[in-house]
Amino acid sequence: MPKKRWILDHCPRAGDRLPRHIGLAATVAGISFLGVMAASAVPPVAPLPPEARQTVIEPLALQPTTETPAGSVFVREEQVRRGDTVASLLNRLGVYGPQALSYLRDQPAAAPIFEQLAPGRQVTAATDAHGELRWLRFPLNDHETSIIVDHQGDVWDVSRQPLAAETRVVMKSGVIRSTLFGATDAMDVPDAIALRLAEIFGSEIDFHRDLREGDRFSVVYEMVYSGGHALRPGRVLAAEFVNQDTRYRAAWFEDAHGRSDYYDPDGKPLRKAFLRSPLEFSRVSSGLSMRFHPILRQWRAHKGVDYAAPAGTKVRATTDAIVEFIGGRGGYGKLVELRHQGRTTTAYAHLSRFAAGLRAGTRVSQGEVIGFVGATGWATGPHLHYEFRIDGRHRDPLRVALPGAVPLAGGQLSRFRTEADPLLARLDQIAGLNLALLD
Ligand SMILES: [Zn+2]
Repeated sequence: MPKKRWILDHCPRAGDRLPRHIGLAATVAGISFLGVMAASAVPPVAPLPPEARQTVIEPLALQPTTETPAGSVFVREEQVRRGDTVASLLNRLGVYGPQALSYLRDQPAAAPIFEQLAPGRQVTAATDAHGELRWLRFPLNDHETSIIVDHQGDVWDVSRQPLAAETRVVMKSGVIRSTLFGATDAMDVPDAIALRLAEIFGSEIDFHRDLREGDRFSVVYEMVYSGGHALRPGRVLAAEFVNQDTRYRAAWFEDAHGRSDYYDPDGKPLRKAFLRSPLEFSRVSSGLSMRFHPILRQWRAHKGVDYAAPAGTKVRATTDAIVEFIGGRGGYGKLVELRHQGRTTTAYAHLSRFAAGLRAGTRVSQGEVIGFVGATGWATGPHLHYEFRIDGRHRDPLRVALPGAVPLAGGQLSRFRTEADPLLARLDQIAGLNLALLD
């Protein structure tokens, strides 16, 4: 099998406007620059699992020539073309001996090669100087396994092996024009990463009410690839969100006890005692975010915040709490009241239904779904009415200062700095690029 090899580092510099051609490394890393939005793959800088640190490249040898010393192996990669047969494909791969084809035909385990000869598929083969097949790799439809044919001396073998998964670190940045998902879609950021952003900054920003046109984000995240296909997103390693000209930054950090969380550049946890929004952020619930009347007017009118949202949208506990009341209550309709550490209560009204099994005295944790948006009680349409009271007095939940958790200190803080600073520097690079392009 081919050797693995490390690829070169590439990091974008502020002011880069066009893709720089940096050969195979750039091609593999998939760098693209689109308008005001920039994306690039950067090397991992946080502690990553071992497989995350490498990108596998097959060294491609030149075509065989007559001067070739005996014993050399030549590797070629070819795309399956429309109308290809296994015979024509082998031929393009430089496999000239008849043995390989007849062997493949006889092997049930090799049948998928004949059945999954889809145009565009990248097939790799190694031959000796005489065009005798040494090995062949054929990736299958599942994007996760390959058929491997191996030929050493007189011994042939067919096996199915997992494709080498590689984790790349991707950096993207975008500007919000209508919704967060509009911006992340334009940048080809997976939904899971957009949702994670809303989660990471969920104690600072109410993603249903606070977003404004011109808000910006930058995010450094992992993406798992196999056989050239993006399989799934991994962790968000660092992120920045500029909301109404206030900049929030976060870096992922795992403490000495193996607990991971997001911290600001000073080592203060972003997670607070309360979430800003009681609605679960989703593609559906996010679409209405920009169409609101000023919050204050509504706030004075009825001592709560209203969130218009489609019926059935998940409502979450904004804090760790105990259910104090659950049931119907006049104009509130179906209502849940939660009590947090004695002094603070939160209320969630007009629900269509409650989460299964929830009753007075139940302990709920922050983010847990407690019910679903509806229009019970005095409600003209589906919405959530949310109240926040301290010592029984109504407070504007969007303005109340939230207590934070304990910041990192001592050795933990210095380790955090060592790991987070390079990530935060990446954010600076991408943010600088963004601004340069906006000017
Ligand atoms: Zn209301």
